[in-house]
Amino acid sequence: MGRKVLVLGEVRDGAIRHVSFEAIAAGKVIAEGGEVIGVLFGESVNNLAGEMVAYGADRVLTVENEKLKNYSSDGFTQAMTAVIDQESPEGIVLGHTAQGKDLAPRLASKLDSGLVSDAVDVNNENGNILFTRPIYSGKAFEKKMITDGLVLATIRPNNVPALAKDESRAGDVQPIEVDIKDLRTVIKEIVRKTAGGVDLSEAKVIVAGGRGVKSADGFKVLEELAELLGGAVGASRGACDADYCDYSLQIGQTGKVVTPDLYIACGISGAIQHLAGMSNSKILVAINKDPEANIFKVADYGIIGDLFEVLPLFIEEIKRELV
Ligand code: FAD
Repeated sequence: MGRKVLVLGEVRDGAIRHVSFEAIAAGKVIAEGGEVIGVLFGESVNNLAGEMVAYGADRVLTVENEKLKNYSSDGFTQAMTAVIDQESPEGIVLGHTAQGKDLAPRLASKLDSGLVSDAVDVNNENGNILFTRPIYSGKAFEKKMITDGLVLATIRPNNVPALAKDESRAGDVQPIEVDIKDLRTVIKEIVRKTAGGVDLSEAKVIVAGGRGVKSADGFKVLEELAELLGGAVGASRGACDADYCDYSLQIGQTGKVVTPDLYIACGISGAIQHLAGMSNSKILVAINKDPEANIFKVADYGIIGDLFEVLPLFIEEIKRELV
């Protein structure tokens, strides 16, 4: 029989974010053979619907409206409520992104439902949905089982693997009209602090710097390594507080939570608040001058040394491998 599950596709810079494809995979587990419906909001999103299908959506609903060009709590809640009224889903999945973190609790409140936020794993056990989510800043994991009612969840990027993309999959794309009432907040302009490149929260490789990087100029060598590895640059709060880089790069309890395949921590002591944002990285490499630094207690590979001597050697070696 299965459930009907809505998955919101998050559009940024004209493309769907990868976490939305991971959300489709989570939606499939929840649907248990039922229908997974992709949902896209924006000014021109119809042309993106095929990608949701290729990643596993059975059907895609699109709402094109200039008021949905940029995310707003108000506009997206109205649009999502209209879609929910039309479809009466038994499950809703969003990415655990700034957008998902804002929208999901609003939906839960409107629908008088529970919410499992920041799930890193989803399983179906005899029709009950078992989520795993980190607690106590990632020091422990809890399991939550939903046995009946609406299954509403956000999933952390880079944890639930997306299904393989299959361009030959077929699925209906249905544009729908939603009357969006006047928005209380209108986005006039988006100013990005980070320069293009790979999105930190979805990066597979992160080269992060701490106070040990010593200056904004010191970050250049980290940027070079990140670019070579196709990754992104992150930072500790120590580095942000010292004005070496922008707060948008901060990783940790009060910054971004990341789960890359490879995290290279350079000149970061490994304070508990920093570990809260990156300790679930698959492989952690730490470079630090101090052999007693806390980061070595959690690192898979530790290099005791000066980052300004170690990183150029890394870069040289990688360049040699690439030619
Ligand atoms: P430090 O602790 O000063 O460490 C610098 C390290 O660099 C040292 O280990 C040193 O040995 C090493 N080093 C120096 N020179 C070199 C060199 N040339 N080569 C190699 N190694 C070198 N922090 C976060 O990161 N993220 C958060 O989200 C966050 N949230 C917080 C929330 C609260 C409520 C509080 C109280 C704190 C929070 N912090 C957070 C701050 C946190 O407690 C630490 O102060 C911070 O993480 C330290 O940053 P750091 O490791 O870069 O600096």
